Amino acid sequence: MISVRDGQAQILARIGAPLAPELLPLTRALARVLSDDFAAPFDVPPADNSAVDGYAVGSADIPARGTRDLVVIGDLAAGFVFEGKLGAGQALRIMTGAPMPAGADTVYPQEVVQRGSDSIRVGPIDKGANVRLAGEDVRMGEVVIEAGSVLRPQEIGLMASLGAWQVSVRRRPRVALLSTGDEVAEPGTPRRPGQIYDANRFTLRGSIEQCGGEVIDLGIVPDVRDTLRASLEDAARAADVVVTSGGVSVGVYDLVKDVLQELGAIDFWQVAMQPGRPFAVGRIGSALFFGLPGNPVASLLSFLLFVRPVLYKLAGRRRLFPETWQARALEPMRKKTGRTEYKRGILAFRDGDWEVCTTGPQGSGILSSMVAGNCFVVLEEARGDVKAGERVTVEPFEAP
Ligand code: AMP
Ligand code: MG
Repeated sequence: MISVRDGQAQILARIGAPLAPELLPLTRALARVLSDDFAAPFDVPPADNSAVDGYAVGSADIPARGTRDLVVIGDLAAGFVFEGKLGAGQALRIMTGAPMPAGADTVYPQEVVQRGSDSIRVGPIDKGANVRLAGEDVRMGEVVIEAGSVLRPQEIGLMASLGAWQVSVRRRPRVALLSTGDEVAEPGTPRRPGQIYDANRFTLRGSIEQCGGEVIDLGIVPDVRDTLRASLEDAARAADVVVTSGGVSVGVYDLVKDVLQELGAIDFWQVAMQPGRPFAVGRIGSALFFGLPGNPVASLLSFLLFVRPVLYKLAGRRRLFPETWQARALEPMRKKTGRTEYKRGILAFRDGDWEVCTTGPQGSGILSSMVAGNCFVVLEEARGDVKAGERVTVEPFEAP
């Protein structure tokens, strides 16, 4: 038996450098991983500018009390620069975002001045009011997005505001995916008595795509030695990572294990977890190999625990594991010590606290429990039965 944590550490230790970078237009970079720190090529904003529509003045002309009349010498729209310089007793009408004219350091909002024909009457105001200073958002040379960040719309917008139109991101990991088993049928085709429709290739495809991988779908491979062997060899040639489900337990008809043993350096693990347990990990050729259990919840959970961090590491992400939270258990939960258990839970905020209950039956084949739930309740290895009201660790399904 190997613990979840040791298994994760051993797997991640096998991965060296992340995948190579590639250059993409910003418009295609959403959800990709930045390969190098992104530093600002200039200050943002590039010059001091007005934060309001109003009148720019020099602070020497601000009356300490009472009012003063200033001559309005011009009108400056956003996108233009005032060529002259403000003298004593002068003001310039200025629009939001327009660069401050020489000689001015303060802006009166238009609604606080009395407008005459060529002049304005102003009262006291703080020196420097309503001016956005050059570099107050970002300083030239400052790293604004770190290597390994996943690009969200706001990162893309920030890079665009800094004049970038293309960006260097990591290549997406290519993941070959196949289901094994004579009992597994393709959805959309007739099913013989005793067969079940493939679920795993669909949950796993979605999960691979959600974590930024590119799926190479190799379909369902029957329990026939030569077919299986050829499929796995093809998969390893085409992909960075090969993922299979089914056939890694100890059933008589589980050829997968035999074929894998012939093909490469594969370890067969019994992981101290529920659901999950049988799990194969290793290499076929230059590809990393993961043999997930056949039961739908077990295969998805094993993917999330062991394959997702690998795809993240290959893609050069900084963060490999999702955030967890604490919540109050609304019901007692049975728990065996010595293994980590992952119950499917429903997490909700009620009466000022996060509360969680389970989705009902927790069998490793009950995929509807993943549909009913919105989180895993993670019960740590050393823990025993949970009483209602105890605090438990939860991991939301939608965690980034
Ligand atoms: P195995 O690990 O091959 O012994 O499979 C364990 C259980 O998972 C069996 O009940 C299989 O029928 C089921 N199973 C295997 N592969 C799939 C699949 N792709 N989709 C849904 N269930 C599967
Ligand atoms: Mg099987």
